Amino acid sequence: MKRALYLLGIVMVVGIMAIGCGKSDSATTTTSEAPTPEVSVTPPAGPTLVSQSACPVSGTPIDKTKFRDHEGQRVYFCCDNCPKAFEADPAKFIAEMKTEGIELEKAPG
Ligand SMILES: [Zn+2]
Repeated sequence: MKRALYLLGIVMVVGIMAIGCGKSDSATTTTSEAPTPEVSVTPPAGPTLVSQSACPVSGTPIDKTKFRDHEGQRVYFCCDNCPKAFEADPAKFIAEMKTEGIELEKAPG
């Protein structure tokens, strides 16, 4: 008799689990509607290039007498200290300016 109750208990637990699974399955199937496409994504940086106006190191306005030429591009700075930071990792600063849509001047010759 005790054994029968024990088995009944197992059957009930398994049954509840099965119902739980069934519910979650139906829930996922009902919510799997076609997702609405998000149109609020800003288009990738296109032809909106701006000339450099800020020091890539400090972000302050550039002094056109202070610059470094890097791989054919002229990079302006605000002071004499920033080119040192730039030259430590020029690729990083140029990549940052590119992501901001800054078009660097061509270094003459
Ligand atoms: Zn500076």
